[in-house]
Amino acid sequence: MMPGETDVEAIVRKHAVRNAMEYGRAMEGPVLSKSMQELPLPKPEVRALALMVKKVVGEVNSLGKEELEKQYRVYAEEFREADARKAEASSRHNFSINGASSGNFTTRFPPEPAGYMHVGHAKPLFIEDELRKAYSGKLMLYFDDTNPDKERQEFVDAFKKDFLWLGIKFDGEYYASDSIPVLYEYASKAISAAKAYVCSCSPDSISSDRAAGKGCIHKAQDPNTNSRLWKKMLDGDFGDNEAILRFNADMSAANTTLRDPTLFRIKRAEHYRQARRFIVWPTYDFCTPIVDSLNGVTDVIRSKEYEMRDELYFAVLDSLGLRKPRITSISRLKITNNLTAKRKIRQLIQEGKVEGWDDPRLVTISGLRKRGVRPSAIREFSLSSGMGTSESVVEIGKLLGCNRKLVEPQALPLRYSYSPAPGYTECKLMLIGDLMNGEEFNDNSLTLRTVYVEESAKQLKEGSIIKLKGIGLFNLYDATGMGFYSL
Ligand SMILES: [Zn+2]
Repeated sequence: MMPGETDVEAIVRKHAVRNAMEYGRAMEGPVLSKSMQELPLPKPEVRALALMVKKVVGEVNSLGKEELEKQYRVYAEEFREADARKAEASSRHNFSINGASSGNFTTRFPPEPAGYMHVGHAKPLFIEDELRKAYSGKLMLYFDDTNPDKERQEFVDAFKKDFLWLGIKFDGEYYASDSIPVLYEYASKAISAAKAYVCSCSPDSISSDRAAGKGCIHKAQDPNTNSRLWKKMLDGDFGDNEAILRFNADMSAANTTLRDPTLFRIKRAEHYRQARRFIVWPTYDFCTPIVDSLNGVTDVIRSKEYEMRDELYFAVLDSLGLRKPRITSISRLKITNNLTAKRKIRQLIQEGKVEGWDDPRLVTISGLRKRGVRPSAIREFSLSSGMGTSESVVEIGKLLGCNRKLVEPQALPLRYSYSPAPGYTECKLMLIGDLMNGEEFNDNSLTLRTVYVEESAKQLKEGSIIKLKGIGLFNLYDATGMGFYSL
């Protein structure tokens, strides 16, 4: 501490000195934010602090090189220790599960083929991949496809293409819809054991009964009646939505997911994989635990938002006497100002506001690929918050930052001009901003700028990264039209 200096001033000086050592010159912004993180209580007002930062930064920047180095040595040890702690904390994202053991680990990644893979899916996928490595286990691909209205082969293919590009290889794959005949057998077992019943109440009365915590007249039906009605469901004697099979659980449970949820529903629609083979479809709540259990899954990694359903997952398996996998909850990675909801993306596509699922403004994996984001940047970004359960809300800028660090060394610097010139060729720079402005679609999310770059650019292949000094990094997406997306 300098003579006569306050604690606050000493902290500010320390950060100013380090900033000057690292960048040749201290800057007020970074010094202010570093100081804020470390201030003792009570904290001074930001305005007063900013004035002090200005003063100290001025002093530090006027120091000669020798004096600066001398002052830095005072803090060097403290910085070294802090850096080591930080490095340890980030490598402590050790990917592990209590009780899991090597050689006895199987998990699965469960996409529903009802849309394209987006960056939010990548977090659990990469964590599962890390766990597979840690336990010399298996990672299976499980398509959760028992909703014939929404699912398409196109989406299955797109997921697979994205996995390939991300460098994820699975140890096997299976489809929920292939298990439907087996699931029918388990439904019959549940009915015989009075664990399930056929209900033909209207959706309105079902939801008001659920809210009131009371069972309907069908709950007490005897197993023989339920078996007969279940057979009628399978034979097609009921219309769509005229009857459902429900879990006979607890209508007054505090956990509302246990209030006799639907196990099967009737839907006459063509399924992309099963065509018209079935009219009675299992729900996620019935299908997933059984398919996991039967396929040898030891560990389920799912996001915290499903936590309420964990009890139901186990209750279904208990009612059938099936082996229970272990469930580990992790937080979702939310991206601010970006769209991941399938329904909303579909709407933007229908309205012609985006080009398709691979529009480079979207955070779908195919959109990021088109934009020039590398798989290793997506991996680094996805794993950066570890396996914790506290909600992480992250700016897309963080992913792009990871990516820029990675591609910048390979970027080809090109000379350019804003007006046509001999030896220069016209190129289109598509500048990408946030797709959403709050909840609203942002019409300015893509802006076109024309510049003229060295003719040698014509030799570049799609996917090449160029650097235009003063503008930024760009990915060549259309070599013949010389089109570039901003990174
Ligand atoms: Zn009923």
